[in-house]
Parts: sequence; C-alpha cells; structure tokens
Amino acid sequence: MSTEPLLFPLRGKRVWVAGHRGMAGSAIVRRLRKEGCDVLTVGRDVMDLRRQADVEAWMAETRPEVIFLAAATVGGIHANSTRPAEFLYDNLVIETNIVHSAYRCGVKKLVLLGSSCIYPRLAPQPMSEDLLLTGPLEPTNEWYAVAKIAGIKLCQAYRRQYGCDFIAAMPTNLYGPGDNFDLQQGHVAAALIAKIHQAKRTGAETVELWGTGAPLREFLFVDDLADALVFLAERYSGEEHVNVGTGIETSIRGLAELIAEVAGWSGHFRFDSSKPDGSPRKLMDNSRIAAMGWTAPTNLRDGFAQAYRWYVDNLPAGTLRGIAS
Ligand code: GDP
Repeated sequence: MSTEPLLFPLRGKRVWVAGHRGMAGSAIVRRLRKEGCDVLTVGRDVMDLRRQADVEAWMAETRPEVIFLAAATVGGIHANSTRPAEFLYDNLVIETNIVHSAYRCGVKKLVLLGSSCIYPRLAPQPMSEDLLLTGPLEPTNEWYAVAKIAGIKLCQAYRRQYGCDFIAAMPTNLYGPGDNFDLQQGHVAAALIAKIHQAKRTGAETVELWGTGAPLREFLFVDDLADALVFLAERYSGEEHVNVGTGIETSIRGLAELIAEVAGWSGHFRFDSSKPDGSPRKLMDNSRIAAMGWTAPTNLRDGFAQAYRWYVDNLPAGTLRGIAS
C-alpha cells in the first residue's frame, strides 16, 4: 500500500453512512469505526431518503463532513426486472437528494456507490471505466443501471460546477454478512447460500438454479469493498468513477460448486433455463484502483466460508422468505 500522505484523512471526521442497514452500508460502518470516525446513521423509520426537505433538514442539523452513499433500492435479476419503477425512481431520487443536500451543506467528501451493471451488456472484457455509455445496457437491470449512471454524472456535474469533492466507485457483484437472503429479491450469491444450506438441512439431493449456469460473474467480499471505499475516500479525488473488483471471474455453476463445498453439501444442481441468464459476462478492469495501490485482500473461498458462517449464525431456519421449510 502507498506510503504517500493521505489526501483526505478520515480519522476524527463526522461521517454519514447512508444505507447503514444494507450489506454494503453495514460493512462501511464496521470499517469506519476502526478508522476512528464519528459515524452518523439514520434509520428509514426516522427519515425517508426520497423526501428532499427531510434530507436537507437532517443534514443541516447533523452536519456530516463526509458521506458514503450506500443507500439504494437493490436486488437480483428477478427483482430488477419485475420492479423497474422502484429501481429507477428510488435510486434516482435518493442520489439526487443526497448529492444536492451535500453540496448545500458544504460536505467535504462524498463517495457514491454504483454497480458493474452500468456498462454495456456486450462490453469488451474486462470492462474499463471508459466503456461507460458506449453501448446498450443489459435489459434485466437497465433501470438500476440508468440510475447509477445518473449518480456518476451527478458527482461529475457538482464537481465541475461547484468544485465539490464527490467521487463514484463501481463495485462488482457483492456478497457477505448482511446480504439479502430472500430468494426472489436477492442476488445469486445469497440465494445459493440459502438454497444450499436448506438442502443440507433437509437432506435434499438437488438444488435448482436459475438460467444455464454458464454466465460469468466477479464476486467481491463486502468487507473488501468497505476497505476499498475508505482507500478511495482518503486517496482519490477525480471526476472519473473507479471500478472495484477482484479481477477473478467464476461461472454461476462454479460458484454453486464452491458454496456446496464450503457448506459441506454433496448433492447436484438442476438448471431452470426458463429463467434469465442476464449478462453473459461482467468482469471489471481493476487496473485503475490497482495502480493507486489497492487490491482485494480476501480470496473467494475464505470470503464464502465467512459469508456462509454468518448466514448459519444469523438466520435461524424458518426466518427465510421464499424458502419452503
Ligand atoms: P445479475 O448479476 O445482475 O445478473 O444478478 P443476480 O446476482 O441476481 O444473478 C446472477 C446470475 O445468477 C444470473 O445468471 C442468474 O440467472 C443466476 N442465478 C442462478 N440461480 C439464481 C438464484 O437462485 N437467484 C438469483 N438471483 N440468480 C440466480
């Protein structure tokens, strides 16, 4: 890691983590507490991030110096394609409200989180930052992608017009503690952990997966994401968004086999090809953040062992939606 002095040290700063109950937000909170920050959070029962006046009033009162914008309406391939209005409206309005209020309140640094789905469906792989807006998006998640592209542009626009130090980071597919294990709404990593654990518990010999199992994805452990975001907040200031991934891709079938191994389940998989595959491949080019001095510390096996352990310890049988027990 670089020994250059930090551009923007976080230690001792008042930092608002928007979306602290989500998987990414809670990992950022864990990481910032180690960093000696004064971490601010607000629950959705107290403030609806979709209400501009409420966001402005809360920020004027609490005066964060730094914001990690991890609040979003998120979900897997099924949620994304069946709830287009929510994915577009919620995410656009949350980003707009927070970025604009951050400018009005003189926030010194804002880190906006996006997603690798911002890139064109058939982008050359690995996907570098400059491929943004060079081709059509993947239809199963275009609503979320359009909102996140707008988020990148918001950061750029406020930087250009008002000199705000707002940056955007684009993580690849995430997994880890605090994921959404709902089988209809969640992403593949959480769904497979839940399905495989259920099969192990009940002695089932088959687990059904969506699609063909052939698509390739890159999976980043969420605590590594939090580490990268702190790294970028302290060391990066610029208009261009930055990819955050591992550089390693695995097929959905390969992922299922890895999770089965970690869980100690030895059944087999059936593929439901009536369900969509989504993007054929989504590998990020991580050379920009690597050149700054950051690479993901956790390997896939260790990360999934931790994620599986977390799931088993935190979600007793019967609390799962979407699983018939
Ligand atoms: P994506 O990365 O935006 O496509 O979102 P997901 O993480 O939801 O899905 C990734 C891939 O995993 C797609 O090809 C899905 O069809 C496949 N997949 C296989 N089984 C499942 C499952 O049980 N749930 C989800 N969400 N995806 C699955």
